[in-house]
Amino acid sequence: MLNKADTRRPMPRDDRGWRVAPAPDGRGMPDEPRPPGPLRRRGLLVFVVLLIAANWVSLLAVRPAGPPRVNVPFNPYFLTQVQADRVRSISSRGDTIEGTFLVRVRYPAGNAQATPTTLFSTEVPSFWNTTQLSALLQAHHVQINARPATQPASVLAELLLGFGPTLLLVGLFVLVARRAARGGSMGALGNFGRSQARRINPEHIQVTFKDVAGIDEARSELTEIVDFLRDPGRYGRLGGRMPHGVLLSGAPGTGKTLLARAVAGEAHAAFFSISASEFIEAIVGVGASRVRDLFAKAKEAKPAIVFIDELDAIGRSRNGHGSLTGANDEREQTLDQILTEMDGFESAEAVVVLGATNRPDVLDAALLRPGRFDRRVAVHAPDRNGRRQILDVHTRSISLAAGVDLDALAASTPGMVGADLANLANEAALLAARRDRESVQMADFTDSLEKIMLGAPRGILLSLADRERTAYHEAGHALVGMLTPGADPVRKVSIIPRGMALGVTLATPDADRVSYSREDLEAKLRVALAGRVAEELVYGTISTGAESDIKQLTAIARQMVGSWGMSDAIGPVAVLSHDGAEQWLPPGVSDTSEATRKLVDEEVRRLVDTAHVEVSEVLSDHREQLENLAKALLVSETLDAVDAYGAAGLPSRSAMPVS
Ligand code: ADP
Ligand code: MG
Ligand code: ZN
Repeated sequence: MLNKADTRRPMPRDDRGWRVAPAPDGRGMPDEPRPPGPLRRRGLLVFVVLLIAANWVSLLAVRPAGPPRVNVPFNPYFLTQVQADRVRSISSRGDTIEGTFLVRVRYPAGNAQATPTTLFSTEVPSFWNTTQLSALLQAHHVQINARPATQPASVLAELLLGFGPTLLLVGLFVLVARRAARGGSMGALGNFGRSQARRINPEHIQVTFKDVAGIDEARSELTEIVDFLRDPGRYGRLGGRMPHGVLLSGAPGTGKTLLARAVAGEAHAAFFSISASEFIEAIVGVGASRVRDLFAKAKEAKPAIVFIDELDAIGRSRNGHGSLTGANDEREQTLDQILTEMDGFESAEAVVVLGATNRPDVLDAALLRPGRFDRRVAVHAPDRNGRRQILDVHTRSISLAAGVDLDALAASTPGMVGADLANLANEAALLAARRDRESVQMADFTDSLEKIMLGAPRGILLSLADRERTAYHEAGHALVGMLTPGADPVRKVSIIPRGMALGVTLATPDADRVSYSREDLEAKLRVALAGRVAEELVYGTISTGAESDIKQLTAIARQMVGSWGMSDAIGPVAVLSHDGAEQWLPPGVSDTSEATRKLVDEEVRRLVDTAHVEVSEVLSDHREQLENLAKALLVSETLDAVDAYGAAGLPSRSAMPVS
């Protein structure tokens, strides 16, 4: 499929490390890498080889050649040999004495491996009385020669020995620097494996608004940017100033990166993109210089889009945690440089900086000031209709069987974002291929959806006891889900181990939910507790199987109390940071008093305890239905909505559109 492949094709990298998608007419095209001149490269190689050779030769020249000389101790060995008249001649250089014995000796005497030789050397201790030594040598008629302290080596050898290593280092340094200059972030080594095929046809990498579906508000906000890039003068005529920074914010996979590329595609603009984390990974100081370079290139190739993905990696608020590491300084320099560059735009300059983040709340206020990323576009998860359109986009090139109902798929995938749906379409196509089908059928979609939502079966065998316990546990979740008003309808119950879980109960809402009432959340608490309560009821004991349930319900209860003001004791006061974790603050510093935090804990506990009592009651009252459901699960392992409600003897609340 052309379009799908297109959005995934890695963009070519410029020689400074950012990815570039040139405009159709070639603006912004990365420079063709200068072919390394064969002569220059060979010259450098020869130079290095020569240096190494020269070094080696000079070492050889200086090293005393000839047969081996044995080093002997001065006293007693040397002196005894002199006294025994066994030394023929000596010559001294500094404190070293070299000489010859009259006969070949082995030293050490007993060592059979030592080669017998007449040549020896020894060191005269500096405190030794040289007058005495001279007298001794004379008395024993040892021939004495004097030599200059250093052997005269050739001037060239001397020079090479002295400067060789330095020259070698300098040579290597030059080599590395040249490569780095050519290879940018790829560094000295990364360049070696790089393919030469970087000039690609710009038409092949164009993504347009046709590839983006289901996020219409975001798309229409960006249409203005596209117009501006196409005709920068038009907006300035009345004195208005076009925003130069647009921040796309939204959950991962909602299509921010895709949208940015589509803007470039629509505006026929050159597209320079880099992920903010890529700035940081580089050596210190390079982040800022890369930014400078990036903007210079973009201005040259205008109209152009500079896309900085994952902006929160450098744009994090600076008054947060102290900067203990150097990484922070690097980050700040990079950030400052981006801000400087953005301030330097002239109003009609057709360069737009797009930033993307999934954590707009942590961004530094300096980034969001007017003149910088002052236009913010929220990219929301698609609604049902949007999911339908996204499925359309991603099934464009898949041959679908007649029975495939994309509307039903869209209805049964609340909460899924563009990336999930793209994945679903792809998985279904792969599954159909594995099943040797001519076209992709509805069953391929529903099976893939099940795999994505529940996880792939793990293929382990549970013991009979574990299997039974799991059946009661899941039956508990399912039954309480069916009996509690406000709980999401049960879609599927299974005791096939998947991922980390021994069993799953899947409950999804009928429609997209944007908010939950206190009753809805209390229902969620009950359903999450029900697995464990069922175990308590049936076995009188509890197991580790409820770990993730407990995590989930604790998180819900804490947020109800601390973020959503659903506890009367605390009231509508935020005592937790937005993501449910308590704010990290140095010891002794806190936004909330000790008493409040204690109260939060108590309130959480109270919520869970209340739910526990209620669930125990419900399950005891419906013990027979629990048994039936568990038995049905033990027989068929997986029950879909109709069978599960049937086994529990309850009317199905709503049939899941899928399967
Ligand atoms: P984000 O940058 O928001 O995390 P991406 O833009 O990287 O998400 O999306 C990943 C992939 O998911 C895209 O390449 C595309 O195939 C698909 N996708 C996401 N959102 C959409 C959408 N709204 N319409 C079509 N495809 C989408
Ligand atoms: Mg992205
Ligand atoms: Zn459970």
